[in-house]
Amino acid sequence: MLFDTHCHINDTSYDVDRQAMLQRAFDAGVGVMMCPGTDILTSAEAVAMSRQYTQVYAAVGIHPEDAASADSESFTQIRKWLATEKKIVAIGEVGLDYHWPEPSHEVQQKVFIEQVKLASEYNIPIDIHDREAHGDTMNILRQYGKGLQGVFHCYSGSLEMAQELLKMGFYIGFTGTMVFPKSQKLKRIASEIPLDRILIETDCPYLTPPPFRGRRNEPAYVKYVAAELARLRGMEVEEIQKITFENGKRIFRIDL
Ligand SMILES: [Zn+2]
Repeated sequence: MLFDTHCHINDTSYDVDRQAMLQRAFDAGVGVMMCPGTDILTSAEAVAMSRQYTQVYAAVGIHPEDAASADSESFTQIRKWLATEKKIVAIGEVGLDYHWPEPSHEVQQKVFIEQVKLASEYNIPIDIHDREAHGDTMNILRQYGKGLQGVFHCYSGSLEMAQELLKMGFYIGFTGTMVFPKSQKLKRIASEIPLDRILIETDCPYLTPPPFRGRRNEPAYVKYVAAELARLRGMEVEEIQKITFENGKRIFRIDL
């Protein structure tokens, strides 16, 4: 079975065919999906989907690109969910994204720190989005996230950074970008780090792997990430599916 550990199945691009999209995932062997929020509205959608489908688990949080929307009410709502919703398995997706000029680094850091503290307080894993902000993301985790576990989703750092994260207890998530022929650095990291710390994900509707690159992504395509990982590690794809499925269950503390 496959575990798509990061998929935005609440996205409006699925409004036309959500049920068919989920059915294709089930038919492709996807047994569990983790749907993270990016703001309060999408976190509520993720929670609603986790209630509706046994296969779906949720993360709640404010994405760095939505950091300007976060206020004290947002954090009150997140606390409420954490106290009441059994299928919330992480705070996410949260972190830093320095690709765009807005929101400012300062605003992003404030909102990220708040959520790192929240994850520590509730003893729940954290699902991290780190784009072009490796140094500050690591510094915030070192300073505020002692003992915190989680995943760097859609990993884009170096092998050295991955090794530090592994020591800290983090898992490394790979998406369709690892399947792209040009992603030699990512392929090398995926070949070298311990298999029991690797998660696979789609980050759908984005980052579609070949052979569907350029089209809308969906959880069924996580099998292409598994296949590439199997090729890189010289293993059977069934074995990779099994290991990454168990990894997802372990980090998100899912009892099946
Ligand atoms: Zn995402």
